[in-house]
Amino acid sequence: MSTGPTADPAIGAAIARAREEVCELHAALVRGNLVAWTSGNVSARVPGTGLMVIKPSGIAYADLTPQAMVLCDLDGTPVEAGYLPSSDTATHAHVYRQMPEVGGIVHTHSTYATAWAARGKAIPCVITAMADEFGGEIPVGPFALIGGDEIGRVIVSVLTGHRSPAVLLRSHGVFTIGPTARDAVKAAVMCEDAARTVHIASARGDLEPLPQDQVDALHKRYKEQYGQR
Ligand SMILES: [Zn+2]
Repeated sequence: MSTGPTADPAIGAAIARAREEVCELHAALVRGNLVAWTSGNVSARVPGTGLMVIKPSGIAYADLTPQAMVLCDLDGTPVEAGYLPSSDTATHAHVYRQMPEVGGIVHTHSTYATAWAARGKAIPCVITAMADEFGGEIPVGPFALIGGDEIGRVIVSVLTGHRSPAVLLRSHGVFTIGPTARDAVKAAVMCEDAARTVHIASARGDLEPLPQDQVDALHKRYKEQYGQR
């Protein structure tokens, strides 16, 4: 185990911030009712380094602390002594290697999003909140086994050039990406909310996708004008 990455004070401070942010954001998964027991994880790239911080494997959410978060290189190998990283670490690492614009990644098996994934169905864009956040449907990728690069390859191939920061994985769950870990958590919360609403709507009748020009206009307004400037 090397102590190299933390020898530089600026990098050490960036790692400390990432540990705190990733630890705090796991509480948002619990608050949003997106996770059961120890499933689900958040990671963040440490800006300006080839490092990432991710949840330790199999530790209860209530017991997570910034120091318990695992610092890994972008091959998914821990670079300091401590807990073993999440079993999804190879997936996160693959996405960071292939998508340099991604600063944070979230994985959950949140109920409604995973129900769509279980059916292998993309969530159609039938409400304005989906046009805003996802810019269209939430896509679904094929089933892939956990552990190696396979899931990471699906995420990269579906989300590259796609407006949606969320992808459903057939028979598994959902991964979201963002410029920061907070953005990825927001996308995970919004994805579950949209999945729930569209599921309820679909149980009561046919779904009517929004016209593409309306989706485009809503997404542009949300990205360029929404919120405090
Ligand atoms: Zn999973």
